Amino acid sequence: MDYILKEREKQVAFAGINAATIECNKESLAGSVSQRACVFCGSRVVLYPIADALHLIHGPIGCAAYTWDIRGSLSSGPELHRLSFSTDLQERDVIFGGIDKLNAAMEELIDLHHPKAAFIYTTCIVGVIGDDVESACKQMAIRKGIPVIPVQAPGFQGSKKDGYKVACEALFQLVGTINKPTPKYSINILGDFNLAGELWILLEYYKKMGIHVNATITGDGRVEDICNAHNAALNVVQCSGSMNYLAQMMKKEYGIPSMRVSYFGIEDMSDALYDVASFFKSEEMMAKAKELVREEFTRLMPQLKWYKERLQGKKAAIYVGGAFKAISLIKALRLIGVQTVIVGSQTGTTEDYELIKKLCDEGTIIVDDSNPVELSHFVKEKQADIFIGGVKERPIAHKIGLGFCDHNHERKEALAGYEGMMNFAREIYATAMSPVWQFTK
Ligand code: SF4
Repeated sequence: MDYILKEREKQVAFAGINAATIECNKESLAGSVSQRACVFCGSRVVLYPIADALHLIHGPIGCAAYTWDIRGSLSSGPELHRLSFSTDLQERDVIFGGIDKLNAAMEELIDLHHPKAAFIYTTCIVGVIGDDVESACKQMAIRKGIPVIPVQAPGFQGSKKDGYKVACEALFQLVGTINKPTPKYSINILGDFNLAGELWILLEYYKKMGIHVNATITGDGRVEDICNAHNAALNVVQCSGSMNYLAQMMKKEYGIPSMRVSYFGIEDMSDALYDVASFFKSEEMMAKAKELVREEFTRLMPQLKWYKERLQGKKAAIYVGGAFKAISLIKALRLIGVQTVIVGSQTGTTEDYELIKKLCDEGTIIVDDSNPVELSHFVKEKQADIFIGGVKERPIAHKIGLGFCDHNHERKEALAGYEGMMNFAREIYATAMSPVWQFTK
């Protein structure tokens, strides 16, 4: 494995009895061409789905273009989030400062779109020239009477994960600023971004169980709901990498407990519903959850069996942002007869990787913060039939001539919940079994 840089050797391990503990939670190695995104991108993807907020990027146009409509996050109402606004900083602004441009942009955009709040993102160049964005936001908030929140995210300050934290800090400025009556059995959904309408599937499940969803953070998100989020009884956190920090802050400040769940695959989806019902200690709610799960199992299992018979023996490579999703994917793939031979993530923790090691077959490659060279070699060595990843993994798969399943921001097919499991099986089958791959070998 001479293609793995020496400094990265401990970030790769093989599942098995003698598997070493994987090194993670490190800064990306300079020159390794990590698949990770920058701090700004991390903050942008988390805040992006808040549909009635203005998202203004203070920086060169490239930062805004790169993250324009970055997620397939659907909204049931306003769609202001889908527009990308930038101060388009130029050479002159870098020399003399960009605050005047920022003030003019905020003034014009707030008057034009009447957002409920504005998020002002700072980028690399603003971190270098030192514009006082915080004070500009404060003054604008007073002038316009809405929260104007600086999102201090110069890209070079760390990696995507640091951007998640910055986004959580920005969200926390809103939490607790409005008080509305909230039912007893109420939760906040944290870390679902309503990609391809997945949140709406989950809302139906919770509704059937008699649970009120107080705020969705941030899928199909609304500023007012986030402001009132502190009145929920429980934070249910899916993408824990991005939202755990907010859940921790809310626990500390408002005493709201949180639980980590996954909505991918029927096993984890069912566990999520049972865990929430157990939290509320309501027998009636638990009975409803069991009924829902029973119905879905009865409907799904015969169909999944059909896929399992045909996909038996196929091998998958997984490389995703958060390791918790990878864990669900391994289980979901097993359910349809597909073996995971490579699994990696950008932001996994030691606990995540330990669990992955236990779940995977002996010899499965486990990798943290990988790069295109490593991933291409792994996939060829393990003879994977399908690659599951995000936008940056797609070209790797296609260049090798391998089927690809998008399980990230851009997906157009809902993959969460029971419906999502069926869509996932269908997509894996259609891609892995496509006759086109015989012409690429
Ligand atoms: S690394 Fe810097 S310049 Fe590049 S997108 Fe991120 S903030 Fe913008």
